[in-house]
Amino acid sequence: MERQQILGLYQWSVGVCFRHPEKGAVLTTVISVIQPRVGGKEDVRACEECVIVLEQDRWVEARREGVAYRPGHAGEALY
Ligand SMILES: [Zn+2]
Repeated sequence: MERQQILGLYQWSVGVCFRHPEKGAVLTTVISVIQPRVGGKEDVRACEECVIVLEQDRWVEARREGVAYRPGHAGEALY
């Protein structure tokens, strides 16, 4: 799949990427929600670059495991 097709599967809004906090506010998507022991739920946000990396990892893992690759689920378990 093309990068733009994959990115089009996500909803984007301005936030701080979990791996690139130094970038500041950029276009990000929520890939996970964590529940810290103290305080409320926190969204884990990833920038476009990180979503592509996560999708590539999932694609490789899906091939290795012999399961169907489902784009649009970065941050979730493969199956
Ligand atoms: Zn990032």
